[in-house]
Amino acid sequence: AKQDSPMGFFHIDDKAFAAYNRFIAINNLLSQPQKISGLSLHFQPQFNNDGHLFSCEALLRWNDKDMGFISPAEFIPLAEENNAIIEIGQWVIEESCAFIKQLQDKGFSLSVSINVSVKQILMPDFSSGFINTLEKQGIDPSRIVIEITETVLISNIAVVKETMSTLAERGIRFSIDDFGTGYSSLAYLKELPISEIKIDKYFIDDIQCNDESKSYAIVDAIINMSKALGAVCVAEGVESESQFHYLKRHGCSLYQGYYFSKPISMTHFVSFLEKRAQS
Ligand code: C2E
Ligand code: CA
Ligand code: CA
Ligand code: CA
Repeated sequence: AKQDSPMGFFHIDDKAFAAYNRFIAINNLLSQPQKISGLSLHFQPQFNNDGHLFSCEALLRWNDKDMGFISPAEFIPLAEENNAIIEIGQWVIEESCAFIKQLQDKGFSLSVSINVSVKQILMPDFSSGFINTLEKQGIDPSRIVIEITETVLISNIAVVKETMSTLAERGIRFSIDDFGTGYSSLAYLKELPISEIKIDKYFIDDIQCNDESKSYAIVDAIINMSKALGAVCVAEGVESESQFHYLKRHGCSLYQGYYFSKPISMTHFVSFLEKRAQS
């Protein structure tokens, strides 16, 4: 079926019209981030070479009362565009800290990786605000890993370097997310305090039955480069035992993916840890 467009000049089909309306509605919600409701954090466990739960990554979930579930892949790019990510990102930091506090109080010493957007990092008071939040909640900075993508490194390197150094001096660690998909210069990696490199799922997907894939060589190179930089190498999107075994054999250190666990709610995560501690 065809519909008239809002301007009436041309016809677009129902599906495109619905997608267009959804885009407008999400953008409207994001234009007043303080009014957004239905946000929560899920945590995806990261496992070490022995298959033990070692750390986790905080991932946003948005379940709006009218729109239903909105995927981060859908709303994060829009939130970055209209700067709503600054306010939402601050909420993510506070909520993650509350989770770490809960873990700390129960005697669990996992670290939590928090995704931070370039817009947040470039705010002049980002590092002081972050340190304040940690101090206010009584959180050990070594429990925090900040995940940034390569776009951060090509934005304003002087500001980024200063912010990263200030936070790294306090014991906060940095991870380069989705490594290999951006355009960062290897020279930056040498200059910045980077503790961890995450191989993007895009490369991990090929570590399967397709022995011809160039991804094997790329994955090996990223693992070796991490070692040369003294950084921990994390694989994301690990979905099978054969991927895990390949990565383990080739020197990777941490694994995250559906093979081990999907992202789970805070309550679910804590009850998992408590059950494990009892057994
Ligand atoms: P990301 O940082 O690369 O996060 C990994 C994504 O892969 C997550 O998607 C996770 O649920 C998914 N994933 C993990 N393991 C597997 C697997 O084995 N198979 C498959 N198919 N997927 C897997 P999610 O939660 O939809 O998040 C999408 C992206 O949105 C994230 O990609 C990240 O860039 C962004 N994002 C999520 N939360 C935040 C946040 O709090 N702040 C910012 N700035 N960005 C966020
Ligand atoms: Ca991430
Ligand atoms: Ca990632
Ligand atoms: Ca990714």
